Amino acid sequence: MVLNELGQKISQALSMIQNAESIDEKVLDACLKEIVTALLQADVNVRLVGKLRDNVKTRANNADKGAGLNKRKIIEKAVVDELSSMLSSGVDEKKLVDLKKGQPNVIMFVGLQGAGKTTTCTKYGAYYKKKGFKPALVCADTFRAGAFDQLKQNATKMQIPFYGSYTETDPAVIAAKGVEEFKKANHDLIIVDTSGRHKQEDSLFEEMRQVSVMTKPDLIIFVMDGSIGQAAEDQAKAFKDTVEVGAVILTKMDGHAKGGGALSAVAATKSPIVFIGTGEHMDEFERFEPNAFVGRLLGRGDWRGFVDKISEAVPEDAMKEELMDSLSKGNFTMRILYEQLANIQKMGPVGQGKEKESAARIKMFMTIMDSMTDKELDCPNPKVLQEQSRVMRVARGAGCNPYCVLELLEEYKRIRALIMGPGGKGKGFMQQMSKQ
Ligand code: GDP
Repeated sequence: MVLNELGQKISQALSMIQNAESIDEKVLDACLKEIVTALLQADVNVRLVGKLRDNVKTRANNADKGAGLNKRKIIEKAVVDELSSMLSSGVDEKKLVDLKKGQPNVIMFVGLQGAGKTTTCTKYGAYYKKKGFKPALVCADTFRAGAFDQLKQNATKMQIPFYGSYTETDPAVIAAKGVEEFKKANHDLIIVDTSGRHKQEDSLFEEMRQVSVMTKPDLIIFVMDGSIGQAAEDQAKAFKDTVEVGAVILTKMDGHAKGGGALSAVAATKSPIVFIGTGEHMDEFERFEPNAFVGRLLGRGDWRGFVDKISEAVPEDAMKEELMDSLSKGNFTMRILYEQLANIQKMGPVGQGKEKESAARIKMFMTIMDSMTDKELDCPNPKVLQEQSRVMRVARGAGCNPYCVLELLEEYKRIRALIMGPGGKGKGFMQQMSKQ
């Protein structure tokens, strides 16, 4: 996957900073040059790349010049922040994803032919079905022969009701009928798949407008092929100018997708990306959140899934209660993290790729924690653990770079925030438990 390569290159560039004896202008410039080259090779818009470089440089120059470890952290954080903000639209994506149950959400999908619209409609339906919604699919694509059959096939596989017609030629009429029927049947997620064309043309846009007038969608999602590179910006703009695109799904972010073109174009048009497609299978579909995406790109854990895993991995109910009790008292210490990581390890061998990588990271984190004192493991205040002399001592003990210790502390803080939730009493974790 080309995006993986991008992540590796950026991580390598950052390691120049981590490994340098001292960080001067020359080291920073060399690191930034590598990052810039990697982003441009991944098709990221040159304007955005320039902005990222300038902003990181400014932040680095403003950083405390003396403290080595601190400056390293500031530079890395600046790179991560700038990458995240480059991929952010400024719109709250969460609001677009958190659909309300029990009311008919009508979602219309638009995009060019071949972008992956029909496949994505079903993936989207299946995603919400798992969350307890009652989805239904309407095929308003009368342009492409076989479109209805394809949707039928996908829908049947995922056991989602569908509507379409072999005889009606007006897509707006089919769409309106389908939406009406499913509303009557109390479906709370009605997905309308529309026709695509090979290129942006007036007839396509006119048809989209008509379907949109007839179905009054709550949200229009633009589906775009993530591998189209620099052409993405024009396409995203053209769709956005015609119908009220509220969100974007990028497909084909697996395989040879460079991804950068589409990602940066979408961000440039201020369209929030809500999901990405990562394969042809129905479950190859992920939420897109700029921060988590950048974290994963750079090989850092995506800890949202981890909270799920902890709740699955705690072996006995009594232990679950004990954990909840600690959390409700505001305690999520390193020791608790260690115990949970150990539980997850006990769940058995992990699969391929990303999971294997996370398993290796878990192992590294546990080795580092093995070098902490009892006091440190039980310390309620993560700030204490960041003291430079402590970090150095733990790193020596674990035989690793002090940077890895800082990384663990950063991850710990992120997991802690997720688990403790708003208010800091373990709400995040409890919500997760109550979903099971
Ligand atoms: P539509 O014309 O926009 O409705 O596109 P389709 O849904 O028919 O998809 C076109 C092709 O892209 C099909 O072969 C899909 O299997 C494939 N496809 C869709 N999404 C993805 C994805 O995320 N990854 C990959 N590799 N293929 C995808």
